[in-house]
Amino acid sequence: IVAQDISLKYRDGPLVLKGLSFEIQAKEKVGIAGRTGSGKSSLMSALFRMVELHSGKLLIDGVDVSTLGLTQLRSKLCIIPQDPVVFSNTIRFNLDPFNEHSDAELWDVLEHVTLKSVIEALPNGLTEIAAESGENFSAGQRQLMCIARALLRRPRIIVLDEATSSVDNTTDAHIQDMILSSFADCTVLTIAHRLHTIVNNDRIMVLDNGTISEFDSPTNLLNKTSGAFKTLWDQHVSKTGYSS
Ligand code: ATP
Ligand code: MG
Repeated sequence: IVAQDISLKYRDGPLVLKGLSFEIQAKEKVGIAGRTGSGKSSLMSALFRMVELHSGKLLIDGVDVSTLGLTQLRSKLCIIPQDPVVFSNTIRFNLDPFNEHSDAELWDVLEHVTLKSVIEALPNGLTEIAAESGENFSAGQRQLMCIARALLRRPRIIVLDEATSSVDNTTDAHIQDMILSSFADCTVLTIAHRLHTIVNNDRIMVLDNGTISEFDSPTNLLNKTSGAFKTLWDQHVSKTGYSS
């Protein structure tokens, strides 16, 4: 992913991304941090072209994304949102909406994301209507379902909007491990609300008021005496008691 001096604004509002330039390598795992309103979600909106750029260029695999059809662009990308929706349809439909995979492939990915026994226990297995048992799926399980769907699709780039309060720390750590092991061959961008989940990423981008204030390895960022990430990290540690 290459960004060349990209700016973005919503309708007639002010610029919320102000000339960002960066390069993310294929397969790199990048955490995106920054205070509320700093532009993290807006950067993802630019990537998915939910909002068109005001200026600059965004390239994926050397191709300017503005020249791609939206279907073509979005087939390269997959988002795992904070609180994934389960469609009121079968489990099968939720995993494979275009009916492109065999049941055996579905069971394989379900096993991988540790949901196989949960689905096997349903009276109708894969053809169980998710809505009827939807309440039985926790937020963590819905995220695992989303991961299973992404595993079947094998996109080039995965965006993870990290779950917040709804997922406990053990499940959260499990989901993070699952993502890093399942998507080793993909580029993974994680919008972090809890910084300890990105501290093992290859690099961390810190956004501040629509600009990049830091973009480096966690080790380098934590070794700075008063850097932006270091400051956010110290606040995170004192608030949660968590340390690396
Ligand atoms: P958070 O941590 O709260 O999710 P963020 O880093 O994702 O914040 P953005 O949502 O990208 O921040 O917001 C960046 C700026 O753009 C903010 O000033 C916000 O008010 C503004 N903004 C975001 N979405 C819209 C929108 N749909 N219309 C107008 N302004 C928006
Ligand atoms: Mg956001």
